[in-house]
Amino acid sequence: MYDLAIIGGGPAGLTAGLYGARANLKTVIIERGLYGGQMQNTLEIENYPGVGRVEGPELSEHMYQQALSVGVEWKMGEVTEVELTGQPKTITVGREVIQARSVIIASGAQPRKLQVPGEEELAGRGVSYCATCDGAFYTDLDVVVVGGGDSAVEEGIFLTNYVNSVTIVHRRDKLSAQPILQDRAFKNEKIKFVWDSVVERIEGDPKVSGVLIRNVKDDTTQVLPCSGVFIYIGFFPNTDYLKGSPILDEYGYVITKPDMSTAIPGVFAAGDVRTTPLRQIVSAAGDGAIAAMEAYRYLENLE
Ligand code: FAD
Ligand code: NAP
Repeated sequence: MYDLAIIGGGPAGLTAGLYGARANLKTVIIERGLYGGQMQNTLEIENYPGVGRVEGPELSEHMYQQALSVGVEWKMGEVTEVELTGQPKTITVGREVIQARSVIIASGAQPRKLQVPGEEELAGRGVSYCATCDGAFYTDLDVVVVGGGDSAVEEGIFLTNYVNSVTIVHRRDKLSAQPILQDRAFKNEKIKFVWDSVVERIEGDPKVSGVLIRNVKDDTTQVLPCSGVFIYIGFFPNTDYLKGSPILDEYGYVITKPDMSTAIPGVFAAGDVRTTPLRQIVSAAGDGAIAAMEAYRYLENLE
């Protein structure tokens, strides 16, 4: 029986673990992939205070080791089912059922798919969701980036370290990325923009050779020749295991109060998985700390 079970080992879950274990709670983090979550796919982080510029895997390693050093237990596996009402709460991980007196949902989010012909067929053969992982494969080649938010612009800039050109295809006539990223992209000679356009098809056999795009204003179409397509059109929450739960909003994000509590007593949420105006490492970590301390208070009152 754990005092606190945390689902997800990204910055939210790792920080919740740190605070939970330091409050002497018997704490476990359950993670289906690598510690660090989305940070593992980020080459350079320059807005997490106190560490200057740091590579995502390095910051992940620090957070992971710090959590382990205070006694957090690490369990590998995918959470497929939960029973969160009442006491104890149960979490199914493979064939194992874990019992805990409180739970923090910190399972984050993952890339949204374009859902156009060619995307699935050419995944790994020119279609990518991770410039950090795959950028080097496109050295001196031409690539397309889809999207207009922070991820598309930041990763587009990153890709210029390798590629000949980046064409950012965006369905509006302006970007929503942070101004500092926009400035850098507009000043980068390797980056071109195609506005008001959507990707209708990704072409190529056996590898990507181009994308068919349609201008949403005049309905004209054209094929942009390219060797790679990097898709950065946002994320969706990892909450399949909570399907149908009343704590989810219409998009599948967990609804929380400012103290990270949900409508179910003893159940908290932190980070990208919850309804929040900011999805960043620093906010995920802050959420995790609040959630763990609220779990501690909940457990004190339970006794
Ligand atoms: P996540 O990092 O998504 O971690 C959730 C974890 O839960 C994952 O490890 C996942 O495997 C696990 N999980 C999910 N479902 C289950 C399950 N059923 N069972 C077990 N485990 C599960 N933010 C910044 O502040 N600065 C940046 O420079 C920055 N750059 C970014 C660049 C990119 C390309 C991306 C995609 C994001 C970037 N962000 C950046 C955003 C930042 O990475 C996220 O806000 C942050 O990682 C969210 O942390 P989290 O712990 O809430 O979720
Ligand atoms: P986002 O902010 O949701 O932006 C998604 C982009 O994709 C928008 O431009 C959106 O256009 C477009 N889009 C959505 N669906 C589309 C579709 N079907 N076809 C074409 N375009 C589509 O997502 P994000 O950029 O991945 O950022 C996610 C979070 O991570 C944000 O909170 C962001 O701040 C954070 N992040 C931070 C950093 C950093 O701080 N350096 C870096 C990366 C990410 P519309 O505007 O038309 O909807």
